[in-house]
Amino acid sequence: MIYLDNAATTYPKPPQVSAAMQRALRMYGANPGRAGHRMSLRTAEAVFQVRERAARFFGAPGPENVAFVMNCTQALNMVIKGAVKQGGHVVTSCLEHNAVMRPLETLRRRNVITYTEVQVVPGDNDATMDAFRKAMQEDTCLCVCTHVSNVWGIRLPVERIAALCHAYQVPICVDCAQSAGILPISMAENGIDYLCAPGHKGLYGPMGTGLLLALNGASLDTLIEGGTGTASESLVQPEEMPERFESGTANVPGILGLGAGIAFVQRMGIQNLYEKESRLACGVYDRFKRSGKVELYTPRPEPPYFAPLLSFNLPDMDSEETAAKLDRHGFAVRAGLHCAPRAHAFYGTLDRGAVRMCPSAFTGRAQTEAFADAVLQIAGGRH
Ligand code: PMP
Repeated sequence: MIYLDNAATTYPKPPQVSAAMQRALRMYGANPGRAGHRMSLRTAEAVFQVRERAARFFGAPGPENVAFVMNCTQALNMVIKGAVKQGGHVVTSCLEHNAVMRPLETLRRRNVITYTEVQVVPGDNDATMDAFRKAMQEDTCLCVCTHVSNVWGIRLPVERIAALCHAYQVPICVDCAQSAGILPISMAENGIDYLCAPGHKGLYGPMGTGLLLALNGASLDTLIEGGTGTASESLVQPEEMPERFESGTANVPGILGLGAGIAFVQRMGIQNLYEKESRLACGVYDRFKRSGKVELYTPRPEPPYFAPLLSFNLPDMDSEETAAKLDRHGFAVRAGLHCAPRAHAFYGTLDRGAVRMCPSAFTGRAQTEAFADAVLQIAGGRH
């Protein structure tokens, strides 16, 4: 099987990731930060090192700004539900995943907030910025938007959006689900208050891992409270990060696997990976374009406006049917709505979805060429 569903979760993982997880089960088997015995201290130290690595990777002030969570969805819920004010207004984009839209919609239906979806203009960041500026209101209490659309690869100018938010004294939360480990981003340089990331996509960590990076954790109300191993005499959830957001026993094998995944991206070089994967996605795009047999929605998926992934359709064929045929040819891709109906509404593909392919660090030119061959064969009716 040739796996091109890396936008859902990356596969395979680097061997260092499974090695780190096995080491964790063998050597770091005690609850970190809960006891004074040697194995607990050793485990806490190993977890701390991953925290430090993640903080450096995302330009957070320090390891205490990093909380380990289950996935990007959990991090986004923690920020959205923790940051909004009763009667407040939220600015978001028209390309958001349900991990953003469903929490917002729940809050809207409970009459806690209203929200505005900003129309993004791909390839024209000035126009996109004008739209964000117009959406800002007196009562705006949060801006939450994706860094990269998981459906179309469109990259939002989050640096400029963050600057705008700061001018309005509105905190910004960036959903880095489709960009963490794929496009460089720095909280410090870009003025980002909250950064949410999955561990299991471009950071090559295991499934069930994610990161919430927050500049000022105490400003967020908590969704989950419980034991942190600190200030246990108090019945009140601590304000300090990361304890504020890490109640209960941690996923130590997952966290150490995530650390090995981030180290892998650092060693390969995020810029090298981005350029290599963009070349692969653009190669497929060019073949499709030349053939005239494939419905393409976006311009060529190249830097700086696009991340390396490609969504498309074949004429008169449902996306699920195309994906099922590709599966029979040995290719794993994802069809349908990718949990992002608003992003599909943007290009008018809500009715049939789209087929999405996404390369990873482990994808080679021969594989993407074979993929393009298979798609064009199916398009030509030979399958
Ligand atoms: N936001 C976007 C843009 C995504 O693509 C995804 C994952 N498909 C998520 C949020 C949720 O990430 P996770 O699966 O780690 O919860």
